[in-house]
Amino acid sequence: MTGDMMTGNILTLNAGSSSIKFALFAPEGPDLLASGQVEAIGGATKVKAKLADGQVALERAWETGEGPANHGAALGEILHWIDEAFPGARIAAVGHRVVHGGPEHSAPVRIDQEVLADLEKLVPLAPLHQPHNLAGIAAASTAFPEATQVACFDTAFHRTQPRLRESFAIPQRFYDAGVRRYGFHGLSYEYIARRLAELEPELAGGKVIVAHLGNGASMAALDAGKSVASTMGFTALDGLVMGTRSGTIDPGVLLYLMQVEGMDADAISALLYSQSGLLGLSGVSNDMRTLEASDKPEAAFAIDCFVDRVARSIGDLAAALGGLDAIVFTGGIGENSSRIRADVLAKLGWLGLAFDQQANAAKAIDIGQPASMVRLLVIPTNEEAMIALHARRIAGLQNPRVEAAE
Ligand code: ADP
Repeated sequence: MTGDMMTGNILTLNAGSSSIKFALFAPEGPDLLASGQVEAIGGATKVKAKLADGQVALERAWETGEGPANHGAALGEILHWIDEAFPGARIAAVGHRVVHGGPEHSAPVRIDQEVLADLEKLVPLAPLHQPHNLAGIAAASTAFPEATQVACFDTAFHRTQPRLRESFAIPQRFYDAGVRRYGFHGLSYEYIARRLAELEPELAGGKVIVAHLGNGASMAALDAGKSVASTMGFTALDGLVMGTRSGTIDPGVLLYLMQVEGMDADAISALLYSQSGLLGLSGVSNDMRTLEASDKPEAAFAIDCFVDRVARSIGDLAAALGGLDAIVFTGGIGENSSRIRADVLAKLGWLGLAFDQQANAAKAIDIGQPASMVRLLVIPTNEEAMIALHARRIAGLQNPRVEAAE
């Protein structure tokens, strides 16, 4: 590895409340070298890292109180391992996943004092996530004072949506104060839009619904690669049934919880973010694999609710697009669960689509029948690769292989 200013490794970080996920990329292009995470920071911390071939290269656990106490110390564990496993690696840029970019940020940005101050102001819009993202930025800035720090926002990709899809039907002064539908999972949608342009250039110019179905789940309507509508709104609570999040709920329920059940904001927040969704409905698990394996009727009911919401929301997004050329499934559930894909698609024959049961079960990329009026695809997402690409560009680093491919 050279000290050439135009090369250098890229590190991506996704800092949550008690975890940091990381990925390390090669200096010359898009290749992943390693990825992993530190979990339960401040508690019974665990760190794990894998090489690009999936081989586990680091695994360590601490008793409560003995491991890294904060995000800075957790990042230190990751960096210590990177130094040992990749001697000579030089981190030239760090790409941070930041949940909220507010109304203004429609693209990733180089982080400076002004941007930081701006992102601090957005904490009230994402109090459960933004402070941890900022802690990750602080830790990385201390560890790599020379590296370019880049913020990549989950909201940015949706800033192409028209105002009427950003607005709630409440007085306009709330919109002016930032109470808008922002949309999330934007890095995943951006990655899928790019992959679709590589795999199926004609479709990428059409009307496409992307279903990002994971523990957090949302869908977006893309017209010629631009977001025109999405199921997540002001927060990542809206829309689909998720692992532990309620998704769309009648706001009158919240009034009832406050007025009749006497619940305060913290109790409602815990209910809607952590105790609802698949977990709340089933009482069994938030994990789709566990629910699919369960023979309890409550587990089947939770799956049915999940599927029903996805199928109905596809109708909604198709109406927003005024037509539909393709549905793309991605995320942990979208990529891996042939049952969920089949259950959703079985409800949507009226859209003129027909899925191929064998291709779906065989985990093919193209799961539509040749006669289907709507193409049906499964494309794995890669938010880290998207962040690395942005970080590399913004840091002015060479990206020869990717740029040559464009
Ligand atoms: P996150 O939002 O945390 O990134 P993921 O995209 O990793 O979540 O998705 C996690 C979800 O994917 C879990 O509900 C998990 O059970 C589900 N999942 C992963 N593999 C399968 C599978 N083979 N069948 C069904 N569900 C799966």
